Amino acid sequence: MITIRHLMFSRPHGEFAMNIPRLTVDRGESVVLTGPSGSGKTTLLDLAAGILQAESGSIIVDGQDLTAMTEPRRRSFRLRRIGLVFQSFELIEYLSVIDNVLLPARISPEVILDSELRSRAARLLECAGLDRLQRRSVTQLSQGEQQRVAVCRALLMEPTLLLADEPTGNLDPDNSRRIMDLLLDQVRRMNTTLLAVTHDHTMLSRFDRALKFQDLLVSEQNPAEADRAS
Ligand code: ADP
Ligand code: MG
Repeated sequence: MITIRHLMFSRPHGEFAMNIPRLTVDRGESVVLTGPSGSGKTTLLDLAAGILQAESGSIIVDGQDLTAMTEPRRRSFRLRRIGLVFQSFELIEYLSVIDNVLLPARISPEVILDSELRSRAARLLECAGLDRLQRRSVTQLSQGEQQRVAVCRALLMEPTLLLADEPTGNLDPDNSRRIMDLLLDQVRRMNTTLLAVTHDHTMLSRFDRALKFQDLLVSEQNPAEADRAS
């Protein structure tokens, strides 16, 4: 479902560089990455979402190579197929809770925002424990509530790939469980692929596989990795 090969990416001015020889996550599989802050986990998810452009290598999602697409095609592919939970939520401040959840439908030209989608959004908010907050401005929510809105938004379009950056990072244990239930329900029902990042070690056992981000990288200590991947 997602296959990464020989992926190289660096920030301008040489402050950060990343080299991932190989990563594969199967359809319907849930994989979680852990690792130190600043190591590049968010950068990897942004590359997998086609938000950032790789310097070289391939990122194949559902048979299509993101690195070979133009920016408009990547954007349209992302809107249709990928659900994203950003570490910083990226909610739209002037929209209500429900309108934030409906945003992917609003901005996809080929999607019609019908009553089915509206009730799906309402149902997701109910599952996330937010049904009473539907009409509220997202600026009047706690961090944890905003995070749950971001998860509902990522699930609206029933994506084939779900990328979740510390999706329970601001939640108490009960809400963390609830949000993990919601994410994994999507994985089971739709055979969605889930690639997540977490610092919450109590959540690791809920995923099919837990990987240390550092183990994916080619480093000076670990140059043999590049050969093994080919
Ligand atoms: P993590 O998610 O593992 O904490 P990130 O992927 O956010 O790490 O960051 C990896 C590295 O890239 C860090 O050194 C960070 O400072 C740098 N970085 C992140 N975003 C930017 C950016 N927009 N411009 C320049 N450097 C960045
Ligand atoms: Mg991060």
